[in-house]
Amino acid sequence: MKLSLVVPCYNEAENVAAFQEATIAAFDGCGYDYEIVFIDDGSQDATLHNLRKIHAAQKCPVKVVSFSRNFGKEAGIYAGLTHSSGEYISFIDADLQQRPEIVRDMVKILDEQPEYDIVAAYQDRRGEGKILSFFKKSFYKLINRLSNITLKSDASDFRTIRRSVADSIIDLTEYHRFSKGIFAWVGYNTCFIPYTACERLAGKTKWNFRSLMNYAIEGIIGYSTKPLRMATFFGFLTAVASLAYMIFVVCQKIFIGIEIEGYATIIVLTLLLGAIQLFCIGIIGEYVGRTFEQTKDRPIFIAKEVLDYEK
Ligand code: UDP
Ligand code: MG
Repeated sequence: MKLSLVVPCYNEAENVAAFQEATIAAFDGCGYDYEIVFIDDGSQDATLHNLRKIHAAQKCPVKVVSFSRNFGKEAGIYAGLTHSSGEYISFIDADLQQRPEIVRDMVKILDEQPEYDIVAAYQDRRGEGKILSFFKKSFYKLINRLSNITLKSDASDFRTIRRSVADSIIDLTEYHRFSKGIFAWVGYNTCFIPYTACERLAGKTKWNFRSLMNYAIEGIIGYSTKPLRMATFFGFLTAVASLAYMIFVVCQKIFIGIEIEGYATIIVLTLLLGAIQLFCIGIIGEYVGRTFEQTKDRPIFIAKEVLDYEK
């Protein structure tokens, strides 16, 4: 098998059939064999029903892995890796925002340029709001400064990798998966190509501001321990400031005398210190929580059904 297209699907009932059609059209006459590995990520709509129909028809080799519940796109990507047999593996969304024709170009690059192991598409420009794009830019700046990996801003999960890269990623069994970080962490030579995201065919995006924030925190905590260092630094800074203030208050007491005053100072300092402490405990908690989750050593996904095709 030359190419596996891994397609994570969560509530994409209206899109999966169109996706297959578009893929078949794109790879018509390409001269190599390919398979589509659909991952049904615990969809609540008719996605699985439609995938079963697509699987039964086998217009092209189709495999369906169905999760027991929604495990998230990252788990879908991992499941796709473990269930695909291609020499090259592509990750592509089901909503046709990412065109299968581009995968053909990616395959061509890997064929012709052996120095590259990954071809990753980055978005030329997203038609998204100024506020969101400001936060995205800030996130990439922050994570690149904090962590040991360098993420390219606008790079998406839309990419094609060689089997060797896939094997390296399968070895990373962390429970909290941040694909962009994982791709950067495994290394290999990446060729970036621009692409323009099309409009979603049907349904709506699963991302909102809150989930993007959580995703950003996931990326930062997962790839850097610098926030912990920051907590230490905060503690040190507060200690130095407190010491200076203590000297000031003692001198005031000795040389001027203190009348009962300072309500504002006390309340402000109490609140401020409380806030700093909670903030630092929160940071530590993020790491402890992840350690806890990881030590449980639970599987990244549970497949309740796998529909394979005859080879
Ligand atoms: N997806 C998934 N599990 C989820 C959320 C999303 O498998 O919990 C899939 C979704 O079906 C789609 C891809 O991930 O194929 C990208 O999701 P979406 O289109 O919502 O993201 P966007 O394109 O807006 O960034
Ligand atoms: Mg999309």
